[in-house]
Amino acid sequence: MSKQSVTVIGLGAMGKTLAKTFVRNGHPTTVWNRTPGKVVEGATHAPTAAEAVSASEVVVVCVLDDKAAREVLDPVDLTGKAVVNLTNGTPAHAREFARGDYLDGGIMAVPQMIGTPEVIVLYSGSQKVFDNYQDTLNALGRSKFVGDDPGLAALYDLALLSAMYGQFAGAQHALAMVGANKGDFVESLLIPWLTSTMFAIPTLGQSDPQSPDDMQAVAIANIIQASEDLGLGQPGHLR
Ligand code: NDP
Repeated sequence: MSKQSVTVIGLGAMGKTLAKTFVRNGHPTTVWNRTPGKVVEGATHAPTAAEAVSASEVVVVCVLDDKAAREVLDPVDLTGKAVVNLTNGTPAHAREFARGDYLDGGIMAVPQMIGTPEVIVLYSGSQKVFDNYQDTLNALGRSKFVGDDPGLAALYDLALLSAMYGQFAGAQHALAMVGANKGDFVESLLIPWLTSTMFAIPTLGQSDPQSPDDMQAVAIANIIQASEDLGLGQPGHLR
C-alpha cells in the first residue's frame, strides 16, 4: 500500500528531524522553510509555503512559535488539507488557530529521540484527522490523542514541561549543595533517588501519616538553613 504524502513546514532542529523521519519511513515528503538552503535528502523542496501545502494531504507545521505558524499559514488556502501543528504554544493559541481539519500537538522529546518508542507526541482536536493519519504520525513516536478540545495537547505539554523544569531546578540546587564533593553522586544517588520517589506523585497534596507534614517542614527548613550556610541562598524551588 502506498504511504500517505506529508508536507513539513519549518526545517529547524525539530522540523528537519520530523521530515527526515517521514522520508525514512517511505512517505512522499515535501518541505518548506522560510530561509532557503536547509536540505532534507529524499524530500521535495517547495519554493513557497502555498506550494508545499498543496503537495500533500497532511501538513505538519513545526516552527518556532504560534506567531510564526500564523505568519506562514494565514495567507495559505488550507481547504481540504489536514493540518497537524506541532509548534509549541498555549492552549489559547491552539483554540484560536483551530479551523477545519486541525490537530494540535506537543512533542515530548528532543530531536535525537524522534522515531524511537521513548517519544510521546500528544494530539488534540479533530479525532477524524487523528484516525486518518495516526499510522503516518506513528513514525515520529507513540501518538497519544488526549481529546477533541484543540487546547488540551498544549495544556498537557506545558504541564509536563513544568514538572520537568521543577525537577531540574531541584536537581541543579542539589548539585550546587554537593559541589566539589560530587563523586558519583549523580549516577549512584541522585538519579535512583528521583526515580524511586515517583510513586508519591498520584497522592501529592494528600496527608500521609507515614510522612507527616510537620516532619517534612523540618526537612525543608534544614535544606534552607544548609543552603544558606553554604552561601547558596534560599533554593528557588522551595520558596
Ligand atoms: P529552531 O529554532 O531550530 O527552528 C525554528 C524554525 O522556525 C525554523 O525553521 C525557522 O525558520 C522557523 N521560523 C521562525 N520564525 C518564523 C517565521 N516568522 N516564519 C516562518 N518560519 C519561522 O526550533 P526547533 O525546530 O527546535 O523547534 C520548532 C518547534 O518544535 C518549537 O515550537 C519547539 O518548541 C518545538 N520543540 C522543539 C524541541 C527541541 O528539542 N528542539 C523539543 C520539543 C518541541 P528559519 O530557518 O527561516 O529561521
